[in-house]
Amino acid sequence: MNRFWSPVTRDLSPYVPGEQPRVPGLIKLNTNEHPEEPSAAALAAIRELPGDALRRYPDPESLALRQAIASQEGLSVEQVFVGNGSDEVLAHVFQALLSAETGFSVPDITYSFYPVWARLYGLVCEQVPLDDGMGVDLEGHAASPLPILLANPNAPTGTALDLEAVRYLVGSNPDRLVVIDEAYYGFGADTAAVLLAEADNLLITRTLSKSHALAGLRVGYALGSPGLIEGLVRVKDSFNSYPLDALAQRAAQAAVEDSAWLERASASVIAARDRLAQELGALDFEVCPSKANFLFARHRRIPGRVVFDALREANILVRRWDKPRIEDYLRITVGTEDQCRRLVEVLGGIVGR
Ligand SMILES: *Cc1c(COP(=O)(O)O)cnc(C)c1O
Repeated sequence: MNRFWSPVTRDLSPYVPGEQPRVPGLIKLNTNEHPEEPSAAALAAIRELPGDALRRYPDPESLALRQAIASQEGLSVEQVFVGNGSDEVLAHVFQALLSAETGFSVPDITYSFYPVWARLYGLVCEQVPLDDGMGVDLEGHAASPLPILLANPNAPTGTALDLEAVRYLVGSNPDRLVVIDEAYYGFGADTAAVLLAEADNLLITRTLSKSHALAGLRVGYALGSPGLIEGLVRVKDSFNSYPLDALAQRAAQAAVEDSAWLERASASVIAARDRLAQELGALDFEVCPSKANFLFARHRRIPGRVVFDALREANILVRRWDKPRIEDYLRITVGTEDQCRRLVEVLGGIVGR
């Protein structure tokens, strides 16, 4: 607390990201970073950047990157917005497309940044409980008149709605905005992007942090109707004209264009995830069906806190929330083959098999 803080600042309760500790030998499975190196083409784009590209301001519209994304999705460039990480894109969604009069609805268990933005921008956030299987309550959201913000796959559960479910939600009220946060795009879930051709009340956000192994680059984007995108641009141009630096624009473009990398790397994460889910099951963990690059699991007998601490003791970091309903769950990022093997070995010791 400081006497110069504004009333808004005094009332904030900021998001706390997963730790990034510098512990030698730590197996870090707590922030859903991709286990592989990013596309070689993206790294080459950074290495080969001419000095002049840093001397000058970058393209404020990130046109080449937006064109690359648009052509991959079969959309026009006016349907693509880019930002400094999808967290920034989502923050702009709050200012540009949601309002204090309406608020919005989210599942009760979801990305814990949503209520933080709600507070920052003074919006009420209605929570619709997940069903008993930790899945999103489709009817519960459809029945509410509020704009909907859904992570699909959801975080931290990893479960996903299929395309028909999202189509139903979007179509159930054409005058209600539906924002689908596809941060875990690429790991086997349906994308709602095909619905953009039939609906102008849908906005999709994505990030290169998870699917493209570029969390350090900070690039996210939104797909939607030209009108929704224009709203985001208005906020962006009232906030920061150059959210993406020259390095980020070039590397992101190269990464997006390298679809062979995405296909291969995603297949490898999916295979590792499904193997790990089986191995956890064999150790008596109950595992939510995941379409993301992480698993959400609880042991049938041992409390989450105990497993978490024992893993930490063994230099393995996962994520856990001290929240009702999910306090016994661990969210475990799918790591490299070696990391997964070590995790299963240590868990075997903890659960006594
Ligand atoms: C990781 C994550 C984000 C943010 O991604 P960045 O692009 O790295 O800011 C947004 N939404 C969800 C659900 C996430 O898990």
